[in-house]
Amino acid sequence: MLDEGEITLPLWVEALARGETKGKFTTTEKPDVTKTPIPRYELLELNAYDNMSVQFSRGCPFQCEFCDIIVLYGRKPRTKAPEQFLAELQRLYELGWRRSIFLVDDNFIGNKRNVKLLLNALKPWMKERNYPFYLSTEASVDLAQDAELLELMVECNFNSVFLGIETPDTDSLALTKKFQNTRNSLQTSVETIIRHGLRVTAGFIIGFDGEKPGAGDRVAQFVEDSAIALAMFSMLQALPGTALWKRLEQEGRLLNAGANINQTTLMNFIPSRSIEAIAAEYVRNFYQLYDAENYLKRTYRQFLLLGEPKQKKGQRQVDWVGIRALLTICWRQGVIRKTRWHFWPYLLHIIVTKPKIWQYYLSTCALAEHFLDYRQIVREQIETQLQTYLSLKPLAVPVEAGESLAAPLPEQVPMR
Ligand code: SF4
Repeated sequence: MLDEGEITLPLWVEALARGETKGKFTTTEKPDVTKTPIPRYELLELNAYDNMSVQFSRGCPFQCEFCDIIVLYGRKPRTKAPEQFLAELQRLYELGWRRSIFLVDDNFIGNKRNVKLLLNALKPWMKERNYPFYLSTEASVDLAQDAELLELMVECNFNSVFLGIETPDTDSLALTKKFQNTRNSLQTSVETIIRHGLRVTAGFIIGFDGEKPGAGDRVAQFVEDSAIALAMFSMLQALPGTALWKRLEQEGRLLNAGANINQTTLMNFIPSRSIEAIAAEYVRNFYQLYDAENYLKRTYRQFLLLGEPKQKKGQRQVDWVGIRALLTICWRQGVIRKTRWHFWPYLLHIIVTKPKIWQYYLSTCALAEHFLDYRQIVREQIETQLQTYLSLKPLAVPVEAGESLAAPLPEQVPMR
C-alpha cells in the first residue's frame, strides 16, 4: 500500500475482504484532509508511547531538490480545519493522554494563514484544559521572521521545533534550491526562535555537489555557534522521484535503486568530491558533535538562551520510569563521565534561573546517552559501506588531490 491512506487504505481493505492476498494499492490523487477521520487512538496502548503523533497539514511550498515530501504530498499545503484538529486533541485528552504530542507535518508553517487560524483556536482550548500537553513540530527556517507566529506557538504550549538547516554553505543551499535558507542569517534565525521559547533541533547534510572540503567541519562549527543541542547530521541521499534523483539519473551517477535516509548510510550516488573525504569528515564531526562534554555544553547554552514558557507548566505525570531515568542521567553524566565537572553547576544554575523548564533541560541532556553509543555504530557502518563502495567502484570516484584520506576516521574512543 503506497501513497495517502485516505485513498489507498480503503482499496487495501476491500481487496482483503475479497480474499485477495497480494496487490499494489497506489494513487496520484491528493485527498482532501478536511475529510480525514479522527485516528482511533483508543486502539493504542498509550502507556507504551512517550510522544503521540497528530497531523495538521501535508505538503510544503518550497522546492528543495533532495526532498521527497513535495513529490509525495505536493507543493500546495493541505490543512485540516481547526475544529477537526481540536477534535483529535480532544480525543487524546479524553483518553487521558498528558505527555508530549508531535505534529508530524512536513512543514507546519507551509500555509501561515491557516496555521494562525488553528493556533488562535488552539490557544483558548489549551488554556481551558490547563495546558495538558507540550507540542513540537517541524518548520522551515522562515519561522524566525514571523514574530506573531512564534508568539502564538509558544502561547499554545509548543516547546520545540525541528528545522531543516542542512548546511551553512550558501552555495550548497542555492544549488539544492533551498533558497529560503539563504535570505537571512541562519544563526540569527535559530537564536530568534530559541529566545522566543522554542528549543531548536535541526537537520544537517553533507555531500552536496560542488561542496568545498571542510563542509562537515563547517556544519559542526555552526551547530556549536548556534547552541543547537540535537543536530541530526547525515550524508546526502538521493530519494526516488525527487528532482535530485532525476538529475543524477540523467548524469549516470546513481549507484542503487533504493535510498535510505539514515545516519548510518553512505551516499547512494557518486558525489562531486572524494567520497572518502566526505565520509571521513562526516564520521569525525559526528563524533565531535556527540562528544559527551560538547553536547552538555551546547544544551546548557541553549537553555540559557531559551525564553521561558508563557503559560503554566504542562500536566506531565512524573512516574517511576521518569525518576529512574533522571537518576541514571545524574549518575552517568554527573559522576562517572568527564562531564561531571560541569554537570552539577550547570544543572543548579538552570534550576535557579529557569525553574519552569529544568526538567526539559535534563531530558535533553539524557538524549546524549543514545548518541554516545550510536556514533560508534555510525562509524562502523560507514566504514564497512565505504570498503564495499571502493572495492566496487574504485574508478568511478573522482578523488581530489590532497583530500583523499587526509582526514582519517577517528579511532574507537571510550564512551566516557
Ligand atoms: S522546506 Fe523541508 S519539506 Fe519543504 S521542500 Fe524543503 S526539505 Fe522539503
